[in-house]
Amino acid sequence: MRRINLKKANVARADTIRYINRQIVLNYIREKEPISRAEISHETALQRSTVSLIVDELKTRGLIYEVEGESTGGRPPTLLRLRAAGCMAIGIDIGTAQTTVAIADLVGRVIERDVFDTDPDVTTTFRRLTSSVQKYIDSNINIEGIGVSVPGLVSPETGAALFIPHFKWRNWALAVELSEATGLPVTVDNDANAAALAELWLGRPEIRDVRDFILVLVHEGLGTGIIFDGQVYQGVAGAAGEFGHMTIGKGAPVVCAAGSEECWEAFASERAALARYRQRRSGVADSDLSFGRLIDKAFAKDDAAREALVETAHYLGLGISNLTKGLSPEAVILAGDIARAWPLIADELRSTLAVNTICSDLVSAPVFASTLGEDTRLMGALSLVLARKFASVVPA
Ligand SMILES: [Zn+2]
Repeated sequence: MRRINLKKANVARADTIRYINRQIVLNYIREKEPISRAEISHETALQRSTVSLIVDELKTRGLIYEVEGESTGGRPPTLLRLRAAGCMAIGIDIGTAQTTVAIADLVGRVIERDVFDTDPDVTTTFRRLTSSVQKYIDSNINIEGIGVSVPGLVSPETGAALFIPHFKWRNWALAVELSEATGLPVTVDNDANAAALAELWLGRPEIRDVRDFILVLVHEGLGTGIIFDGQVYQGVAGAAGEFGHMTIGKGAPVVCAAGSEECWEAFASERAALARYRQRRSGVADSDLSFGRLIDKAFAKDDAAREALVETAHYLGLGISNLTKGLSPEAVILAGDIARAWPLIADELRSTLAVNTICSDLVSAPVFASTLGEDTRLMGALSLVLARKFASVVPA
């Protein structure tokens, strides 16, 4: 029989709390620098001693430094600032259309980026991205590691891309191959998980105090990242968060990556919205129309485009209402290009959620657009490096 090791569970819990507190303190310094230890303590309700310990750790890791503030009579206060040019990270977002390789500091400020079309041939794509990475390695010291976001299933243990539906890539030992090619530590995760992590580490004040949330990433497909207690919930073998394939109804406008017409993805992905637009335009619409262009058209008062987005938002709302009924998160974040259409879809989303509730007295979790804009997945890749750096505790 399996027994719960309480001692081990307590240690894990203490580590988790330290990890979360580091996220909070680092986020405050990033947003409000220069800031004093006392101000951080006051604003976060963390104890002064806890803040001091974390600040010492961040200083040791070269992420922040002290400056002298202006005196208001007595001794000038010591303020904390981020060290922008200190540690660097490489983020790689492998998308179904394009791949972005970027070098950034550890708070997500991108210094340089390369963007190229993702080649359906995995070897070609790998060659392109390693040559970009090598260029950054040659011109920068202090690179902490590489984070990679991929549109598919990833093994959390080995960092292998187990299955990328769009390209039918299977069992790609991505972390091992990239680490061997570059000599740097590599962390790989599913795009929605990585995007959720980015909201936690690099997101803006709206979610600063939220530690349990679901991120819904809408793109060619549809994925979800679940954050519980400030950490990504991976499930067994990293397969958690595949809500894109929960059954929503029959007769979706497109089939999902797994070939079904009943999945949430088939009703609420970018492809679903584009198909609705084409139906309304009865074949006269440009078959190469991108989702970004569809949003532009909707903002430019193209009724068919706007209706296609609103109908898609209705199905997004249905899926989100199912998730919130089951998981009761503090918030739901909508990410991907769809976040740009927020002013057009927010009303439909909210009203769908209001109708599909267990009881009207139950306050439903707030839903809002990603705070990271179009770079959510790239920020996700960078956050993987950040999270790895802070998952371990500096020995005293
Ligand atoms: Zn499916």
